[in-house]
Amino acid sequence: MKPIYDYQIPFNRPTIVGKELYYISQTILGGHSSGDGEYTKKCHRLLEQRLGVPKVLLTTSCTHALEMAALLLDIQPGNEVIIPSFTFVSTVNAFVLRGAKPVFIDIRPDTLNMDEAHLERLISPKTRAIVPVHYAGVACEMDAIGSLASRYNIPIVEDNAHGLLGKYKGRFLGTFGTFATQSFHETKNVTCGEGGALVINDPSCIEKAEIIREKGTNRSRFFRGQVDKYTWVDQGSSYLPSDILAAFLYAQLEAIDEIQFKRQQIWDRYYENLNKWAGENNVRLPIVPADCEQSFHMFYILLPSLEDRQNLIEHLKARQILSVFHYLPLHLSDMGKRYGGKQGDCPVTEDVSDRLLRLPFYNDLSEAEQEEVVDAICEFQVKSHR
Ligand SMILES: *Cc1c(COP(=O)(O)O)cnc(C)c1O
Repeated sequence: MKPIYDYQIPFNRPTIVGKELYYISQTILGGHSSGDGEYTKKCHRLLEQRLGVPKVLLTTSCTHALEMAALLLDIQPGNEVIIPSFTFVSTVNAFVLRGAKPVFIDIRPDTLNMDEAHLERLISPKTRAIVPVHYAGVACEMDAIGSLASRYNIPIVEDNAHGLLGKYKGRFLGTFGTFATQSFHETKNVTCGEGGALVINDPSCIEKAEIIREKGTNRSRFFRGQVDKYTWVDQGSSYLPSDILAAFLYAQLEAIDEIQFKRQQIWDRYYENLNKWAGENNVRLPIVPADCEQSFHMFYILLPSLEDRQNLIEHLKARQILSVFHYLPLHLSDMGKRYGGKQGDCPVTEDVSDRLLRLPFYNDLSEAEQEEVVDAICEFQVKSHR
């Protein structure tokens, strides 16, 4: 298989947006390149202020932020966690690592987010967390999900890997759950190669989170001068990134509004220029409900059939353009089947997963490149009609 960067128009291309390399040299010359140095603190402050949340902790990945959330909620073997089948494996793995059983929930056909209409039926006395994923940075129905969660007293962990700066009814995604997780993986809007963050909305969990992140020690209190020695106080691991990564990330976060502006333009251009072709070819473009402000993370289209989708992927490949499908239903994966997953459990997920295609989308995608993609798509005619 051809390496993904060999395409003239790749699916993703990481970009330098500002002072990344300068800040990296500063952190190395400054003599503190391990975790929780100056740049990590700057990232924490910037994100806390922007989102208006009590605490943000950078992590080595969104996967690790999810693992921290599972540890903080003290997830135990036999607990159940309600998670969409249409998500990345880490959303589920973090809880499975603690022995929990994933209970897969289907998605809404419009936003491809957790379908809140199925939620109450899946809640049991063993449910210990509900994990909405804001797909493509378009919000889940947080009013309905939040009111069920509080009626049954079940914590919410938002997997907000796609949705930094997205909003639901004017409120930032990542501020609804007890915890939320962000990703700064190369493929996300703001990146440092590999990285993430845990957003903590319940201040009573901050200290425990700091301990878990720092190998089960009270090292954070020690650095604040609150204790004179640091020691082993609880379970933990090492979830803090090097300050070199934080330096890279800080430069990206400083430029986040520019990044978002560019991405909005790309998204809008796809939408406008594909609208007519989509209407003529039974192709559905993304739906963003009126009370959601999306994060412009991706642009996907839904073809009428699996065959049409595969044909379009090939059609674009022949023109040096890489487009990619997305999540395979987790309930039908080898691991999902071990939890009893079977065909028909999540019909919308099963259907959408076969038909969804993501188009090249990165900050520096030029207008000319985008025009090539659009022209190539508009030459393509679907075969099936739904
Ligand atoms: C990217 C992604 C993750 C994992 O992020 P990492 O930072 O790579 O661990 C988790 N959940 C979703 C929905 C993602 O898109």
